[in-house]
Amino acid sequence: MRKLWITDMLALLLILVLLWNIRPRPSQLDALEFKGKTTSATGLTVQFLGNTNILLDDGETRILTDGFFSRPPAYTVVFGEVSPNTSRIKDCLNRAGIKDLDAVIPVHSHFDHAMDAPVVAQLTGATLMGSSSTLNIGRGLKLPEDQMVQAPLNKFISIGKFEIMFIASEHWEYPDPDQQKRLLHQGISTPLVPPASIYDYKEGISYTLLIKHEGVNIAIQGSAGYKENVIPDFDADIQFLAIAGIELMDETYNRKYQKYVIDAVNPEVIVPIHWDDFTVPLDEGLKTTNLMVNLKFGSNLGEAFELIELNNPNRHIVVLPLWKRIAMHDLLKESSP
Ligand SMILES: [Zn+2]
Repeated sequence: MRKLWITDMLALLLILVLLWNIRPRPSQLDALEFKGKTTSATGLTVQFLGNTNILLDDGETRILTDGFFSRPPAYTVVFGEVSPNTSRIKDCLNRAGIKDLDAVIPVHSHFDHAMDAPVVAQLTGATLMGSSSTLNIGRGLKLPEDQMVQAPLNKFISIGKFEIMFIASEHWEYPDPDQQKRLLHQGISTPLVPPASIYDYKEGISYTLLIKHEGVNIAIQGSAGYKENVIPDFDADIQFLAIAGIELMDETYNRKYQKYVIDAVNPEVIVPIHWDDFTVPLDEGLKTTNLMVNLKFGSNLGEAFELIELNNPNRHIVVLPLWKRIAMHDLLKESSP
């Protein structure tokens, strides 16, 4: 009897280890990966740095969304408290070739977007831009007030040759009502001092970002949520689009995500973002979520890709490789018919 119990426990342990270590990788990640030049990129360049970190650089001005590099392990995210990992942030900035930045812009204030941004600002001289919630994350880390700007909504503001508009959108709607209650539609009203629970990093405002740069129009959707009719007339050459979790939503939700987020800016190129497991450090490369997570939440990245492909048959879907600096011109050219 006792022997049987030990065998059962060992079998269970083996299954858990397998579920933890198997990471299904949809074929689209390789099939749609950008295959063009990634060296000596000049002019306006883009660099994908995991999750929803996007660096836009025109040689004079550098703008980074999120700047989330700490990527604390899953057990800390679930059971403990999180805080910025400065040495990991420094390593990532080095590896990405980032010395100075003009602005760091979290797409909303959840920890996996905004937690590291004040440290990135301190290390690069960037201005932290975002909602009052994001600025309270800055205050918790003693970022000076003159290095923070609360982003105005619905009008273009200039940063070098970039013009950026912040639009209040919605976050992806967690299917779990408890998560919805804890993580959506709330702000951070006092300085947030880490370490803190991930639930202390309230959403603030989830943005749609519209960016114009010398004739190139860029849209960024950092979370797979939508608000009806909030995006003004804007014809995007390229859209960075959060796809995590869309496969869990019903048909109506996805029809509206398509209509009010994607069709609203009519992009020629869609770059999926927010698809990698943000609990894995970037020096291990971009990994998909493991089977344990997929089984618990019902996630299936392959299905998310299929949905985007199905609804956008005439658009080019391009997966960007990690770290590589790509000329926007090459990215748009490579993707043109
Ligand atoms: Zn979020």
